[in-house]
Amino acid sequence: MVELKLFNTLSRKKEVFKPIKKGEVGMYSCGPTVYWYQHIGNLRAYVFADIVKRVLIYNEYKVKHIVNITDVGHLTSDADEGEDKMEKAAKREGKKASEIADFYFGVFSEDLKKLDILPPTKWVKATEHIKEQIELIKRLEEKGYTYRTSDGIYFDSSKFKDYGKLAKLNIKGLEGGRRVALGEKKNPTDFALWKFSEEPGKRQQEWSSPWAVGFPGWHIECSAMSMKHLGEHFDIHTGGEDHIPVHHTNEIAQSEAATGKKFVNYWLHEAFLLFKGEKVSKSKGGLYTISELVDIGYNPLAYRYLCLLTHYRKPLNFSLETLDAAKSAYERLERKIIELRKEERKGKDLSEKYDKSFIEALNDDLNTPKALQVMWKMLDDFDFEPEKKVCLLEKFDSVLGLGIEKIHEKKLEIPKDIQDLIDKRELLRKQKKWVEADIEREKIKKKGYIIEDKPEGLRIEKINKEIF
Ligand code: AMP
Ligand code: ZN
Repeated sequence: MVELKLFNTLSRKKEVFKPIKKGEVGMYSCGPTVYWYQHIGNLRAYVFADIVKRVLIYNEYKVKHIVNITDVGHLTSDADEGEDKMEKAAKREGKKASEIADFYFGVFSEDLKKLDILPPTKWVKATEHIKEQIELIKRLEEKGYTYRTSDGIYFDSSKFKDYGKLAKLNIKGLEGGRRVALGEKKNPTDFALWKFSEEPGKRQQEWSSPWAVGFPGWHIECSAMSMKHLGEHFDIHTGGEDHIPVHHTNEIAQSEAATGKKFVNYWLHEAFLLFKGEKVSKSKGGLYTISELVDIGYNPLAYRYLCLLTHYRKPLNFSLETLDAAKSAYERLERKIIELRKEERKGKDLSEKYDKSFIEALNDDLNTPKALQVMWKMLDDFDFEPEKKVCLLEKFDSVLGLGIEKIHEKKLEIPKDIQDLIDKRELLRKQKKWVEADIEREKIKKKGYIIEDKPEGLRIEKINKEIF
């Protein structure tokens, strides 16, 4: 099998994937902050992580996948200021922060199911790993990487030699161009590890610590939880490209400062979903959620198909027109699979040839648009035996996740008036009254049904494409 290459943000190059442990992969994905519904931009991040995981499985790796749930500490500003998003939502909805987290996490899990996204090996919640986060901060403190201000414990980024290597940050440039007031921070890129509660007892979520009552900063949770569940050095970390300059840069700094060894081998980032050229973001109100797309008549898998049509490192320009195109292609795929399952024609077994092209596309940095082209070429290849084609398509679907096995003909409910017309036409045909029978067929068509006389019997199709 052709070797798997992945674009590593650390080196800005496609690299051959080599796992730390033979045949196994440890993978961590930054998950949602559960204070609101996930919009389709957020969901692109999870479709992407799902493809990474499925391609690894296709390459016969055993994948341990950890995804976090941020239910504390993510502030409205990335500069360690502003309100905690969870506390703000709890106030807005008059609920407990844990109820907010449970509710939005529940909706999110349903969204993932609708998009055929495989669940991770384990979901990990920030509030359930406070001890681990405190331990990690203590390790950093012992090694001299932290300092105290009046509102928290901060990481001193100037003490970590390679700070900013992921984002290729120009630290000197940042220092020189510093316009924002630093407050008590020593360097603009320093970040909070532990924030003190302004008035203990006022926040819903706060914990005692060796420093003061408070709560963890946002970045520390991902280091503490990934290292707990995957070890201090693991294979793959995924997230949206917005995480490169701050969140992931800080994860690397604090993890490597604490352990003294390399944190993650491959950093993979997906580009944004854009609407009218702009990044869709939850704080600006988001765009559609999956349920909203369903309400206006879209199958969630048409959205998944749309994601696969664009390479993950390219921005995905979303519009209802592009979604319509993906929907038509997905419906064509549905019709194709239904037809193929009925065909009994013999032909050649071209499975090996197409499987090779398919995996070549995916192993070349997860080229899903190319993999879809291979799939269509294979489906339209008349020489390829239909039954074998179906088997191969189902195998491809273990990566594509388009619900192929679940696509079956829907039994069409035929309304009584249509059935009466069909019966009348049948009678006229038996009487060899062809002209009259055709008039009945036209009446049926005007009512939205097409009928065809096939050797195997009558075929009835509703104009909206349900097939009987
Ligand atoms: P959040 O819940 O805001 O922490 O975001 C969850 C994930 O969605 C992160 O990995 C983000 O990078 C990603 N994300 C947010 N907005 C977009 C977008 N418009 N396109 C793609 N990914 C996004
Ligand atoms: Zn994270």
